[in-house]
Amino acid sequence: MPQELGFFISLAVALIVAYLVAFWVALLIWTLRDIRSRSRNIVTAFFAVLLVLVFNIPGLILYLLLRPRETIAEQYERTLEEESLLSELEEQGACPKCKARVEDDFLLCPNCRTRLKKICAGCGRSLHLRWSVCPYCAREASPPVAAELTGRLG
Ligand SMILES: [Zn+2]
Ligand SMILES: [Zn+2]
Repeated sequence: MPQELGFFISLAVALIVAYLVAFWVALLIWTLRDIRSRSRNIVTAFFAVLLVLVFNIPGLILYLLLRPRETIAEQYERTLEEESLLSELEEQGACPKCKARVEDDFLLCPNCRTRLKKICAGCGRSLHLRWSVCPYCAREASPPVAAELTGRLG
């Protein structure tokens, strides 16, 4: 029965085409999601999707080769790590003026008397000079007057 055979063949072709189209669309969606997690640039995202749209699987392979290596989340994490490493180095105290070794909780450099920390007027803990608020008691940390500091120290 050639008619039925023809029907089955066209059904099979339709199924295969539908499958390919679905696969292609899935590739496009995957690419879009992937590039969006790696780049905030709309133009980059557009070209990435265009690459896969036009070249399909070879385009995807090209995209995988060319895409930014890190996702935005990974970049963010790495920046955080680098920053915390840097601030750790800073904390491992040397006096900013005379480079004498100072401990983390020193208020003044024992060598040149440069002020290293200030004291919170609310809770009395030592604060970084650049902090504008006390992280322990949430009190506004105004730049302390020298007399106040020496008064508290004495
Ligand atoms: Zn010093
Ligand atoms: Zn405080």
